[in-house]
Amino acid sequence: MEIPEINKDRLLHDLNAVSRIGLGEGGSVTRLVFSVHELRSRQLLVHLMNLAGLDVRVDAAGNVFGRLPAGRDAPAVLAGSHLDSVVQGGRYDGPVGVIGALEAVRTIKESGLRLPVPLESVCFVGEESSRFGFATLGSSLLAGDVTMDDFANAVDAGGTRLEDVLSSFGIYRENLASLKRDPKTIKAYFELHIEQGPVLEFKKKKIGVVTAIAAPSRFRVVFRGQADHSGTTPMEMRKDALVAAGYLITYIDEVCREYASADKGRVVGTVGAIKVEPGVINAIPGRAELQVDVRSITASSKRKVAGRIKQRARQIARERGMKVELLTIREEEPVALHPRLISLIRTTCEERAVPFEVMPSGAGHDAMQMAKITPTGMIFIPSVNGVSHNPTEWTDPEDICLGTQLLVETLIRAAHAEI
Ligand SMILES: [Zn+2]
Repeated sequence: MEIPEINKDRLLHDLNAVSRIGLGEGGSVTRLVFSVHELRSRQLLVHLMNLAGLDVRVDAAGNVFGRLPAGRDAPAVLAGSHLDSVVQGGRYDGPVGVIGALEAVRTIKESGLRLPVPLESVCFVGEESSRFGFATLGSSLLAGDVTMDDFANAVDAGGTRLEDVLSSFGIYRENLASLKRDPKTIKAYFELHIEQGPVLEFKKKKIGVVTAIAAPSRFRVVFRGQADHSGTTPMEMRKDALVAAGYLITYIDEVCREYASADKGRVVGTVGAIKVEPGVINAIPGRAELQVDVRSITASSKRKVAGRIKQRARQIARERGMKVELLTIREEEPVALHPRLISLIRTTCEERAVPFEVMPSGAGHDAMQMAKITPTGMIFIPSVNGVSHNPTEWTDPEDICLGTQLLVETLIRAAHAEI
């Protein structure tokens, strides 16, 4: 099979251009969903897709599609990722998959290769949960697996509700379902992504062939004690919400360590954000809010751990004579990727003699949502020192080019394959 070669300089140049949008201290990148920087990054993508001569479409949620039509109208093979980032993140989490997919599709277009089905490079809106606590927004809307009620607890640090932002774009309860894309228009979805972990580098492998994605359970825990004077209130008369929170944080660490082994599901749990009120040195905290994230690729283990954490939160509140609220942010099931696509990526690696590792993904991705409506596969490339969601996030440019070249080949194979 004749496989066209990507234009490495163009790929790296465009990735660089994206990383300059939202560039901050120490080379960090901040493009929170629906911020000016995130909107600009999608604008740049639309421009690049137009330059490449693709048919560009932006749906009501802001998901961007660049389509290379085929001779006939058939279900398309899609590839993409996201351009939004965490606060002070790195340059490659997301953009590698978006610009990589664009490079793959325009390479195929320029080669003049005729494929039996259309290709689309995609950028999903709001994959990261950093702003609203709600992840994979655009792909969830496209997969039709979300209702307005799911946004009930999605509020940013400034008090802006996700629901209000969406309604400002004309997305309401009544028309939410219309954002779902007809699965019959999609043949398969691929996502190229940095590993965001240390496994590939440690095992000296160039490519990760992803088998499954660990999905998060996310919830808020709000302890309501009583704010009092820090000097006049005796210790035995306090209802300190932050102390209650402290006990719960320690418990989350303990229970996840108990479930750390492979046979117990490798559960991981994190309290990544905490808000304390009134939040001054001379007052006992009357209110403490924690954001809890629990993940595993084994649904039963994840459920067990999340259940125990909630039970312990209630117990701590009871013992200390305070109230506790448990608010679900997101409940996702772990996802297995498609066996046919997994073997397709494997074969591509084997034929090119590229050392690969078959592995699960600990991080969530848009692929998790796409897998609900279409056969889905993921290709990982190594992260130096396993670092991600951090300004020092780095991947060797040669690895980015290799991953993108393999994506070209994978897309061509998928276009021809029976899936
Ligand atoms: Zn990502």
